[in-house]
Amino acid sequence: MSREPAPEESDPMGVLETLSDESYTGVNRCWPCTILNLGLVGIVVMFLRARNRSRASLLIGVGGVAVVYLRGYLVPYTPKFAPRLVAASPVPDEWFHGESAHDAATQDTMAHEERDSLAEDVELDGETILRELSAAGVIELEGQRLFPEATVDTAWHERMDELAAESLEALSTSLQASLEQVGHAEPYVDDAEWIALGTDHKQLLPRPVVVAELAAYEVLGERLDDERLRVAGAEAFRMFLDRCPVCDSDLVESSSVSCCGGHLGPRQDPDETLVCPACEQRLYTFKLGDN
Ligand SMILES: [Zn+2]
Repeated sequence: MSREPAPEESDPMGVLETLSDESYTGVNRCWPCTILNLGLVGIVVMFLRARNRSRASLLIGVGGVAVVYLRGYLVPYTPKFAPRLVAASPVPDEWFHGESAHDAATQDTMAHEERDSLAEDVELDGETILRELSAAGVIELEGQRLFPEATVDTAWHERMDELAAESLEALSTSLQASLEQVGHAEPYVDDAEWIALGTDHKQLLPRPVVVAELAAYEVLGERLDDERLRVAGAEAFRMFLDRCPVCDSDLVESSSVSCCGGHLGPRQDPDETLVCPACEQRLYTFKLGDN
């Protein structure tokens, strides 16, 4: 992929690629920023039209909309001020922070909810998990950063590759075979691919999360005796992903609530997340609040 700033006439696709910014478009698009910016473009266009500068207004209109489409916003620093404007405006917050496509699909059936990890019921704090994993030699500190120990890392990636090659159906079977406590597991597909746990009230786990955690769970079993730590460790291992285990796309850093406060209160920091832009699924959430 060329990152050179191509001259405008020569390679229009190159220009589009250079301009486009995944942090604020696609799944990450922030609607308050988009709407606010389109509104500003509209105001400028109306102003120019009122002054009979129709050619300029056309250019600004088309160019402005294109930039908002590609980058998510036009006015610099919009992601920093738009949330405050939205919070201060009388417009109901839900207009902007309504359900994502996944949530909407989930609500259609009423019996599904998204789940972050296989380890949801394990009550171990992050510090304990990392200390125990480190004591067991499965993760190592290098400088300021933690890494999986080399042989563990290799085994984990090999197992992820095998599981990623399995069909969604086969993956559910593998999950049930390795982790009996998950109970019933079956494929579930809407605009993304999931494994649904449970029978009546189903909990949906993104396919890449299942691949990463199940592989880590199996590999950690050779090193850890404590079942709770093994499950929690499998979840923690997702923070070491830099590519999607299913489609191999580079993960992009994002915020769990697009760029605008989302469902959180104004004084809470949104969690940072790792997202697969191709699978449109969240691979890891760095919880800033729970140290
Ligand atoms: Zn992916």
